[in-house]
Amino acid sequence: MNHDELRHWSKRAADWAADYHAGLRQRPVRPPVQPGTVAAALPETAPEAPEPMERIFEDFERIVPDAMTHWQHPRFFAYFPANAAPASMLAEQLVNAMACQAMLWQTSPAATEIEMAMMRWLREALGLPPGFTGTIHDSATTATLSAVLTMRERALDWAGVEQGLSGQPRLRLYASAETHSSVDKAVRIAGIGQENLVKVPTDHDHAMRPGALAGAIAADKAAGFVPAGVILCAGGTSIGAFDRIGDCIAVARAHDLMTHVDAAWAGSAMICPEFRPLWQGVEAADSIVFNPHKWLGAQFDCAVQFLADPGPQVRTLGLNPAYLVTAEGGVPDYNAWTVPLGRRFRALKLWFLLRAYGLDGLRARIRNHVAWAAEAARAIADIPGCEVVTGPSLSLFTFAAGDDAATEALLKRIEADGRIFLSPTRHEGRSLIRVQVGQFDCTAEDVAMIPRVVAELIRT
Ligand code: PLP
Repeated sequence: MNHDELRHWSKRAADWAADYHAGLRQRPVRPPVQPGTVAAALPETAPEAPEPMERIFEDFERIVPDAMTHWQHPRFFAYFPANAAPASMLAEQLVNAMACQAMLWQTSPAATEIEMAMMRWLREALGLPPGFTGTIHDSATTATLSAVLTMRERALDWAGVEQGLSGQPRLRLYASAETHSSVDKAVRIAGIGQENLVKVPTDHDHAMRPGALAGAIAADKAAGFVPAGVILCAGGTSIGAFDRIGDCIAVARAHDLMTHVDAAWAGSAMICPEFRPLWQGVEAADSIVFNPHKWLGAQFDCAVQFLADPGPQVRTLGLNPAYLVTAEGGVPDYNAWTVPLGRRFRALKLWFLLRAYGLDGLRARIRNHVAWAAEAARAIADIPGCEVVTGPSLSLFTFAAGDDAATEALLKRIEADGRIFLSPTRHEGRSLIRVQVGQFDCTAEDVAMIPRVVAELIRT
């Protein structure tokens, strides 16, 4: 394919994309495909001779869309959203065209400087104090891993990166059981070990108990462990739990421990001042992650990490080999702030998103989602045999339809029906159905479909 052909096919792809999005409501949110169907449609090996793009495109249309779960479907209420506002998709097309690498200022000056500006815009938008700076990662998992590695090195006075972990004291990190499994993954990858992630007890509202945190740290110190950091939950994945961030940070501070707040989902809601009491005290955190790709509308992937002081993270992750040394000073080389060297130009989609919708437009969407989720929860609570078990926490709630078997059977029927997509969770020993409202283009009517489908299918 040459660049003239690329122009032709890009236009075809743009038309296909517009038609695809316009037709999403006519599709089931999840395809009724069985495992192996797509694999069976593909040849065993790559072709030796070039194939015409016409045929490749036809095969794409024939094989792929009907075998995809449609994340941009307005009735996608499972997991958390991976949104893609049209303006952010457009920015991604331009980034794809430039196919750049934003590892150093020199390798992509505009990418670095727009990233600096977007960190500033988002910090202001979320109501965080001016001291915070930060960077954009691929995922919250990587941001949390970066924070955990920094906690480890700060506690070891950077002996880990120099000498390795063998012979070092046993470190301890603290989080509640409501935090995402990315925290467990981070302690495993960081060589701290699952057993050294202390799951601090929570109280009746599933928030970490600050007194229990203080007790766990004191007991570990007495036992000869070295506490290294606390990871706090601002909008847990299962039921949307929030720790009392300020109180827990105060405990961490008293023991000179670093803190990282995982607000991967709920962080987007903090552009609305009325939701900020949920993470009260966050301004004292060392590190905060939120995913604009979840609820704000930036196309996946886009995870923003705010840092009160980037110094410890850069000291942990940054390297300066001769082949990366450049003459410029006074601008960040963001690869030193993140795990991978190579970095995509993710800031452009934030720039397009924030300008095309404005903070007011984005706030209106999030407020609608929260209000519509509350209405859906009320309507589900009124369905005979249904019980709303948790929430709504912002726009996330869970419900049951009797015992575990009945709830799981209802979820299977909802899946097979295809009009809406919900996902499961377990909470306090019960199987529950989880509902979150956050798809960028969903309407009140789409959300009202949730209780309608549930009421219909609970009877069958
Ligand atoms: N933290 C929370 C609260 C999440 O809900 C998720 C994913 O849903 C993650 C972290 C991990 O996010 P990512 O897929 O960006 O690694």
